[in-house]
Amino acid sequence: MPKISHTCSTVNSVDPNAPFLDFEIPNDPTRIEVRRSTRRRRTVSAFREGTTIVVAIPARMSKRDEAQVVPEMVAKVERAERKLRPGDSELGERAAKLSKELFGGLARPSSVRWSQQMQQRWGSCTLDDASIRISSRLQGMPRYVLDYVLVHELAHLLEAAHSERFFEFERRFARAERAIGFLEGWQNAQGDLTDLSDI
Ligand SMILES: [Zn+2]
Repeated sequence: MPKISHTCSTVNSVDPNAPFLDFEIPNDPTRIEVRRSTRRRRTVSAFREGTTIVVAIPARMSKRDEAQVVPEMVAKVERAERKLRPGDSELGERAAKLSKELFGGLARPSSVRWSQQMQQRWGSCTLDDASIRISSRLQGMPRYVLDYVLVHELAHLLEAAHSERFFEFERRFARAERAIGFLEGWQNAQGDLTDLSDI
């Protein structure tokens, strides 16, 4: 089962210019859960609960209708989420704000960008050019979780290794523990994918 792993310092000791290999993650984050409700007659709704998209349908809906409605509703939720996603410029602004609040503005990334390709990590920081990349898989998650990963990568600009000094920097973000708990829970949930999903 994948766990959050910190391999930055290992990578760094071998090659100081290698990007940090933070936070192993599995491939598909979204589970789909169909809830049949006797209180519903016609209405269908869909919403996200953490990493699950819940589709609520009337108890009496036929399997055939369900097979049509559920993918439509999931697509609708994902479209709405894409609209809400902060772009690269907002990501950069957010990193600058966190750097100012927590590090007196000393962590200055040259760029902060979303990465669609980053499937095995939550974030990476390349010391070579001080660039930060953030996995776009964080886009549907709570803001404090995204902020935590940004803080983690920003802290690497001040301290390369996962040293005590590094974690002192990281702990300045008050919700670090909570964010790590969220990411661990998310990853554990992936291991139970087949048991938990209804479709
Ligand atoms: Zn790290």
